Amino acid sequence: MSVYLDYNASAQIDNRVVDYMMDIYKNNIGNADSRTHDFGDNARVIVENARKQVGLLLDIPPEEVFFTSGATESNNIAIQGLREYADKTGKKHIITTSIEHKAVLETVKYMGEHGYRVDYVSPDQTGRISAEEVMVLVDDETLLVSVMHVNNETGVIQPVKEIGAELADRDILFHVDATQSCGKLVEELRDISYDMLSFSSHKMYGPQGIGALVLRRKKYKLPPVKPIMFGGLQEHGISPGTIPVALVGGFGKACELATEEYKKDEADNIAIRDMLIEMLDKSGINYKINGDIEHLISSTLNIWIDGVSSEALMLSSKEYCSISNGSACTSSSYSPSYVLVAMRMSEDDIDQSIRLSWGRNIDAEVLRDNFEKLLRVAKELV
Ligand code: PMP
Repeated sequence: MSVYLDYNASAQIDNRVVDYMMDIYKNNIGNADSRTHDFGDNARVIVENARKQVGLLLDIPPEEVFFTSGATESNNIAIQGLREYADKTGKKHIITTSIEHKAVLETVKYMGEHGYRVDYVSPDQTGRISAEEVMVLVDDETLLVSVMHVNNETGVIQPVKEIGAELADRDILFHVDATQSCGKLVEELRDISYDMLSFSSHKMYGPQGIGALVLRRKKYKLPPVKPIMFGGLQEHGISPGTIPVALVGGFGKACELATEEYKKDEADNIAIRDMLIEMLDKSGINYKINGDIEHLISSTLNIWIDGVSSEALMLSSKEYCSISNGSACTSSSYSPSYVLVAMRMSEDDIDQSIRLSWGRNIDAEVLRDNFEKLLRVAKELV
């Protein structure tokens, strides 16, 4: 069977999370906002327990955690939700990067079409942006700086800690899309100063369709985001609609497991990365890692293989390894990855680049056998 190496698109849900969710589905009926019976109370206990588990993972108070349907919704609220505040203050300048996920880029583009000035910082050839370049763009009208923690295509860790420290005492909101780092770079995330943080549960072994927007209090006040969708008062109106209790419970469980196991996960991921690099080195293939090796998350490798079309490799090695050549969200388009374009790679080199991403529950021995076969296929394609 093919080894799944597309964890950055969606990681396999942990069986312990599934068991917990099944128990909720079977034994907890009701709506967490029902106030008139025990069923509602019991559902609410599950939701509030999950909020605590998210808070513990990030080392923040649970009241600063708001459940959403995932990082796309969280990013939209963090950005679009500032419109009223921007109108009031006249601050309509946004700084972001050209390598953000589309959930940020498209939202910011929309804001740009509605009277906002948007600046995009591009990375250098290693895929990393510079904190200084971000700070140089800041002016009196800057409303928001939005920078991802880890890029989903390259795995490059961005200097959000430095940017957060620079912005901490300024009247500017700092949003971090931590979808690819949450549950993995646990200590780093606890150490970053931010106002808003987005992430999805399914990248960290929880269920799909649930995530969180974290809103940090400053001087007792939450960031001035307003709902972008209207309905009930769930999640303080920020994400209205019936709370999906089992999804939230499963997400909380995934956070609990990450809190307990992130060090082991990290050691396992490093061992896999070392193995893959060693195999690539020994294969005789001419390859290069796309991205700053000094600042790479341990669970992603974006590699260029000389003379091998990524489409051809993905199709002809599909039975051995399930890989991708970029973000699943844009994979229906055949245009070259905008992330690798921003790193000033040529179209030919981008065509010859693939992304491998892995995580918990990978059988290293099976991976070794199958990756060996993928490398053989790659050699035949040169
Ligand atoms: N941001 C980043 C960095 C991502 O990798 C993703 C998922 N590919 C998202 C946001 C969107 O997450 P979701 O599809 O779960 O809403």
